[in-house]
Amino acid sequence: MEASKSLIARGNGRAYGDAALNPRGTLLMGRNDRFLSFDPQSGRLTCEAGTLLADIVAAFVPLGWFPPVTPGTKFVTIGGMIAADVHGKNHHGAGSFGDHVESFDLCTADGAVLRCSATENPALFHATRGGMGLTGLILRATFRLNSIETGMIRQETRRAANLDEVMAQFEESQAWTYSVAWIDCLASGASIGRSLLYLGEHALVAELPVDRRTAPFDIPRKSAKRVPLDFPGWALNRFSIRAFNELYYRRGRPGTELVDYETYFYPLDALLEWNRIYGASGFMQYQCVLPKTASRAGMQALLRKIASAGAGSFLAVLKLFGRQEGLLSFPMEGYTLALDFRVTSETLSLLVELDAIVHDHGGRLYLAKDARTGSKMIRDGYPGLASFRALRHILDPQVKFSSLQSQRLDL
Ligand SMILES: Cc1cc2nc3c(=O)[nH]c(=O)nc-3n(C[C@H](O)[C@H](O)[C@H](O)COP(=O)(O)OP(=O)(O)OC[C@H]3O[C@@H](n4cnc5c(N)ncnc54)[C@H](O)[C@@H]3O)c2cc1C
Repeated sequence: MEASKSLIARGNGRAYGDAALNPRGTLLMGRNDRFLSFDPQSGRLTCEAGTLLADIVAAFVPLGWFPPVTPGTKFVTIGGMIAADVHGKNHHGAGSFGDHVESFDLCTADGAVLRCSATENPALFHATRGGMGLTGLILRATFRLNSIETGMIRQETRRAANLDEVMAQFEESQAWTYSVAWIDCLASGASIGRSLLYLGEHALVAELPVDRRTAPFDIPRKSAKRVPLDFPGWALNRFSIRAFNELYYRRGRPGTELVDYETYFYPLDALLEWNRIYGASGFMQYQCVLPKTASRAGMQALLRKIASAGAGSFLAVLKLFGRQEGLLSFPMEGYTLALDFRVTSETLSLLVELDAIVHDHGGRLYLAKDARTGSKMIRDGYPGLASFRALRHILDPQVKFSSLQSQRLDL
């Protein structure tokens, strides 16, 4: 740390933008990956911050434990999950990952290692969850896993003909542990926002077929497929996306089925190098959240703009959030929309227009997904930013911890 003028921690590099990059010093945390202690009574796990969620899931699901919150990939580290205060499909009920972290040890700019929790150094605890690595290095963390009876999820699929319908279904389904909707980002007119809503619960042993009840954590092993080449730029266009979306929406059969947890939570992890579908010029993810009162009008405006540009991809997701906790945590009570765009000059211009809609509706962008927005957008979207900056100034006057993102956005 002494040798480098400034640096940033890097977990497994799954943030989409420049949050874990600093050309002067990028500290790879991935070798810091040991489990330190586990209490089988309470599910309390202490591990080093470079531990991959994939390793936790592989070790603990067979013992009947599941992470309290998981993002849509398990190839993330615990440090990255705290620093981005990640959310999952259960945010409306369970909050974000930081809500389940009892404590962590943080190495600050002066080299001190501080235990942070809701009662020890609480201001630092609050700033570090969601603080994108800018308060220091998270070294180890303690959190509780949830007890599960099986490795399967009871999934209920519902169709919604438009945005009003899917929002009504989200509101009605808040007693479900998990909910997420795939949304057809190119549907227009009366069908704007048509979706498939996927609700989920951890299945109980009694819900499994009789012959599987003796091995409830055995799930079918599928080998991951690999995208073999960069798709040509023209392959992903408004016609191919529209055709895919039509087919996907029609094939989404309403009803209940049992799916394994890998299929429910990590569908993209089964397709290695899926980013190559977007071609050699790459892609950007755009994720925003709008306050609940503005969500209907704001989402309509965003979807109208995206559909008329014929942009976006088949991986568009809508989700209902609960509350926000950390100073820079992304979630707020309202709806979040996430979708991928192939990088072209047209989509970059479109994203500027989307920013304006998000801004006008009192929303904000997710730092873990951003590589391009401006500081005003973030300043106006995050009311906690002024307090975050003030704390950072006291804690790290020499700006030891800094990323390309923090410099770009003046965090
Ligand atoms: C396919 C896919 C699906 C995703 N789905 C979701 C989702 O559903 N919900 C969601 O919230 N996010 C989601 N994400 C984003 C991802 O969860 C976050 O970007 C997460 O922070 C990545 O963790 P990482 O270990 O790869 O961290 P990195 O990408 O390496 O770093 C992310 C941030 O964490 C900081 N950081 C990392 N380790 C430490 C440490 N030890 N100490 C201090 N700071 C540290 C970095 O400085 C950086 O600011 C998804 C990403 C992908 C690729």
